[in-house]
Amino acid sequence: MPAPERLSLNTATVRPQWNLAQCVDGCLRHGIGGIAPWRDKVHEIGLKQAARVIGGSGLAVSGLCRGGMFTAQGALTDGVLEDNRRAVDEAVAIGAACLVMVVGGLPEGSKDIAAARAIVTDGLAKTLDYARTVQMPIAIEPLHPMYAADRACVNTLGQALDICDELGDGIGVAADVYHIWWDPDLAAQIRRAGKRRLLAFHICDWLVPTTDLLLDRGMMGDGVIDIAGIRAMVEAEGFDGLNEVEIFSAGNWWKREADEVLATMVTRGRTAS
Ligand code: ZN
Repeated sequence: MPAPERLSLNTATVRPQWNLAQCVDGCLRHGIGGIAPWRDKVHEIGLKQAARVIGGSGLAVSGLCRGGMFTAQGALTDGVLEDNRRAVDEAVAIGAACLVMVVGGLPEGSKDIAAARAIVTDGLAKTLDYARTVQMPIAIEPLHPMYAADRACVNTLGQALDICDELGDGIGVAADVYHIWWDPDLAAQIRRAGKRRLLAFHICDWLVPTTDLLLDRGMMGDGVIDIAGIRAMVEAEGFDGLNEVEIFSAGNWWKREADEVLATMVTRGRTAS
């Protein structure tokens, strides 16, 4: 039952409604303790202004979304690596707790998911080399396997933790209940991650039925995920970061007044998380 100050607003939750400054004001109005911008919201008002608005607010920054997409060009290119270094710099500038990585899926025309995963590990290693120099933790977000082709070929906590073990310090996972709730190995992998690797915790709900693979996430309490149960697991490992609410919802929450969305977030944070 996180109190509002233990919640963080991922800007995707009100993506069509508010810009970053409005998101910050909204968090302050509703007593929400943190924010997690997507880079589009940062770029929209400019990095300097974003850092100023967030820095002046007193809000914690539970993460910056997102770096990654290492497979986008088929092979790992300088352009992709440069963009990831820029994402690291942006995360530093806004004081983010971590840079969240959505690693990328299969390159266009490829059926070789093992090769895609090798590209991803290479891209993460090179980005981590840079991130370590500026002390920015890298958080791999494993995505539900339905996104393996087009968004992320890292699909379980176990797989993400294998990469972390290979790469060493400065890298961990973003545990998003939407992506990991179904995993029979979930409890064991959260224990394996421990406080050191648990860098972010994202919450929303899985609706039944789900009508869109990407844009039909539910508000906490409207679906089937045992959010409180998973939260208890990460907290048992010592995770003390915020509960970041990330809801892509084209048909419902994106159509509502953003203040209603945040008010509901706060209520459901107390009753359904
Ligand atoms: Zn997430």
